[in-house]
Amino acid sequence: MNKPIKKITIILTVISLFPIIFFSINEYLSLNKNEKIIQDIYKNQLEAIIFSINQYSDDIVRSWMFKTEDIIRQNKDEKLLEKSLKEYLPITQSVKNIVLADTSLDVLIAAKFSDSELISKIIKNNINLVRRFFIYKNQNYQKIESIDFGEDVLLLFVTNNDKICLFQLNKKDFVTKNLSGRIRSIASDQFMVGIFHSGNAVYSTENFTIEEAQQRANFWLIPGYQLAMSVKGDTLEEIIHTRIYTNIALIAALGLLMSIGMYFVYRNIKREMELAQIKSDFVSNVSHELRTPLALINMYAETLEMDRIKSEEKKKEYYSIISGETNRLSNIVNRILSFSKLEAGKRNFVLEKIDLNEIAKKIYATYLHHLQNRQFEFLFVTVGEIIIKGDKEAISEVIVNLIDNASKYSKEIKKIILRTGIQDGFGFVEVEDSGIGIAKEEQDKIFDKFYRASKGLIHDTKGTGIGLALVKYIVEGNNGKIELESDTSKGSKFRILFPLEEDKKYV
Ligand code: ATP
Ligand code: MG
Repeated sequence: MNKPIKKITIILTVISLFPIIFFSINEYLSLNKNEKIIQDIYKNQLEAIIFSINQYSDDIVRSWMFKTEDIIRQNKDEKLLEKSLKEYLPITQSVKNIVLADTSLDVLIAAKFSDSELISKIIKNNINLVRRFFIYKNQNYQKIESIDFGEDVLLLFVTNNDKICLFQLNKKDFVTKNLSGRIRSIASDQFMVGIFHSGNAVYSTENFTIEEAQQRANFWLIPGYQLAMSVKGDTLEEIIHTRIYTNIALIAALGLLMSIGMYFVYRNIKREMELAQIKSDFVSNVSHELRTPLALINMYAETLEMDRIKSEEKKKEYYSIISGETNRLSNIVNRILSFSKLEAGKRNFVLEKIDLNEIAKKIYATYLHHLQNRQFEFLFVTVGEIIIKGDKEAISEVIVNLIDNASKYSKEIKKIILRTGIQDGFGFVEVEDSGIGIAKEEQDKIFDKFYRASKGLIHDTKGTGIGLALVKYIVEGNNGKIELESDTSKGSKFRILFPLEEDKKYV
């Protein structure tokens, strides 16, 4: 990789990787923070809901308390008071008995007398509590104390009318009759709420165990009872995990997208730079190609002009060098013109019936002397007439270019075989050399315009890199195809195939 491309690669990597890494770390850190915040919010919310259920139960009992005080106030007569209390019991739905005692602790009035003895004993046992309640009451604060009473609970308080009051409340009825409606409306379809006793649900909106609950708290009014609740559907952990996974997937997708984008940017820049490099190479190659024959022509012409050469033989030799170099010059110019015409799409091929063998033979005759002069062994192997449809001039150009390459890229073994033949309905012409060969990875590229292989003796061989591009254009324009066999230890074989004329195909 050359220096600027390396630099661009590093810059692109830094540009694309830094934001991704920074974003990922930041996201990961904030995830943990967010997770904690969400957890706290949920915990607080569940706590608040549980608190509201406890508060609601307390409010119910306090409403009974106020009602009882009202009843006491309105019924001075004991019998009427008893009757009114009895009538009030069913309205509460879960209070089985209301017992009133005065400060002497004798049972004065009870809605029902079934457990009165026992209840008065309980009040006596809690005498210290009652005393404290009287002190609270004088400070305008009414406290309620729950005392466990089997399947019931006794709620003890002091009334505004200085009576000790006791509600005998059925635990289960209170939960199922007084609270269930409220619990159901709180739960709606968002939460699961339940009231549990020793691990068993006394009431619950959904089938769940107390261990599964996300938040638990004691039920204030009933000793031993617990309120428990959970978020319905996905648990908190699941929600957070889903969020983490979604974010990670998003980051990964973003990273992938950026990498793909960067890859395309990188590829385009690389291609542009390579093209710029190739173009500048082309310009210097062309200049070099033109300068050498021009210098030779100039040198020999000047020598002749000065009339320094006396021998006719030498003069002839100089003239022939000048004409040879002029030919070379015009070849180069013609090739460049031909190439630019093809590039611009301005060259039209005239396809007509031609004998490929005849064309090859003519070129062989033209180049034999020239190549032999350069110590080449030049052979022509043929099968006879090969009629194809093609542009004669253009196909000649192809063969000349291939022979030119074969001679240019041969080193120790100077042997070129020009061969014509027939293969699977195609007529072909082939140029084989025993030269430097072409590395496998370059075999696709040598047909690109301006491309010159970077290995071997290429740097001391002149060329513009358009010969094979020209060959490819022409072959495609004549409906032909190219086959290349090349090995850096054996040499190269370029075979150009054209479809045989229909009536000649099966001969
Ligand atoms: P020019 O435009 O003058 O022909 P060139 O010969 O360098 O220049 P191409 O004919 O397009 O350009 O060939 C492209 C490259 O393919 C050459 O530079 C050379 O590296 C490689 N190549 C072509 N023919 C052969 C061959 N017969 N043996 C080895 N290498 C070859
Ligand atoms: Mg060439």
